[in-house]
Amino acid sequence: MNLITLPSGLVGFNNQTTEIVETISDREMYLLHGVLSRDEADGICPHCNRRMHIHNEYEVNLKHLCFGKRLSTLRFSKLRYFCPSCGYTQMQSVPFQAQGHRITCELYQYAKDLLAYGFTNKEVAELTGLGKNTVKDIDLQRLKEKYTIDGEKLIKPERQARFIGIDEFKLHNGHKYAVVIIDMETGHILWLAHGKKKATVYSFIEHVSLEWMDGVEAVACDMNSDFQEAFEDRCPHIQSVFDYFHIVKNFNDKVVGEIRKDEQRRLHEEGDHKGADSLKRSRYILTSSRKTLQKKDGEAEKGKVISKGSTLFYKEKIVRKSGHVDKYDELLSQNKLLFTLDIIKEKLSEAYKMTDEAKMAKEISEIMDICKATGNKHLCWFKRLLDNHFEGIIAHATYDISAGKIEGINNKIKTIRRQGYGYPDDDYFFLKLFDASRKGYVRNPSTNKIPQEK
Ligand SMILES: [Zn+2]
Repeated sequence: MNLITLPSGLVGFNNQTTEIVETISDREMYLLHGVLSRDEADGICPHCNRRMHIHNEYEVNLKHLCFGKRLSTLRFSKLRYFCPSCGYTQMQSVPFQAQGHRITCELYQYAKDLLAYGFTNKEVAELTGLGKNTVKDIDLQRLKEKYTIDGEKLIKPERQARFIGIDEFKLHNGHKYAVVIIDMETGHILWLAHGKKKATVYSFIEHVSLEWMDGVEAVACDMNSDFQEAFEDRCPHIQSVFDYFHIVKNFNDKVVGEIRKDEQRRLHEEGDHKGADSLKRSRYILTSSRKTLQKKDGEAEKGKVISKGSTLFYKEKIVRKSGHVDKYDELLSQNKLLFTLDIIKEKLSEAYKMTDEAKMAKEISEIMDICKATGNKHLCWFKRLLDNHFEGIIAHATYDISAGKIEGINNKIKTIRRQGYGYPDDDYFFLKLFDASRKGYVRNPSTNKIPQEK
């Protein structure tokens, strides 16, 4: 009755009786009373080699594996020895206890396996009956073993990278920044550090060595950063490349967004409130490419279902709305400047598909001319941005660095931050990112879907 068989390998524990002691959130907890076998060495003083006395006895409770829905705890006595000759005291060793935790090695390993498989900390806590801090400790230990040398330094890159990418991201509090460096071919994170300064580049170079850097041909970065200078300073052979992801981000945030706001203001002043209102909700449409909008309209024609209907909960089916392109064209026809933005967006996209530097240079020059011709301050700013980074932009034609990897890392950072219960522990957050970049995906527990890599 109520018999739980201990798994083999639990050396030193002899199970005698079991009983149900309590129920933790609907799960019964089984208490397994047992005896801890004595090791001869425990009773010998390591200092003077004499036989020690039993000083006192403690009751120990160790959480153990769950058996289906049932949780279990081992209860036994542990002795403290005392050496009458030299006064040394020593606890009896427990071979099946996970170091630093009140749990068995078996439970520790089980939780570790679940974490390695991709279960979230919350899920592991629920499955094992462990507290969330214990789960976090186990995970941190697991990641340190995998990705650090003695928990002090990150491991060196597994392979020689030819193209690397550098970017910065906000930490949980939204004020501090961190820098991430990735291998642009594998998407693996190679370096993570606090700060957004050049110093992070220097510490990275020190970490991987100058010899390793000799094998790197190009680095992709944002134009609005000073990382480029830091690389040029230490490794002048490396070509800086300004990638498509960042250029589009700059254009959307600092040009399209600002012009849209200006235009809205202008229309209001001119009394065209209807026109201003239609611009108000246009951010998505204006920052999407025509191709994306065409794709959405195409899906709408085919009646793509965004959200399934349900007879059980009286929910109506939601089908993709059409008319994205029409709305876009309407906005453009009403506004010449927006029409110009559309041309620039298309030309940027074309330019970044080119594999010939001369052709790409011609395309970028044309974009600069268009910007200048408008006389608009935001577009003139963009013209200067392109001008000041011209070489690194057209280098993209030679070094075909895809925007997908940088975007992928950005998405992983967001996903992990969201599921991370805030991650007040940056070391842990960084190691989680390091791990996710190698696994290639982050499981999203809310949808249970694994996002596809681009
Ligand atoms: Zn002694």
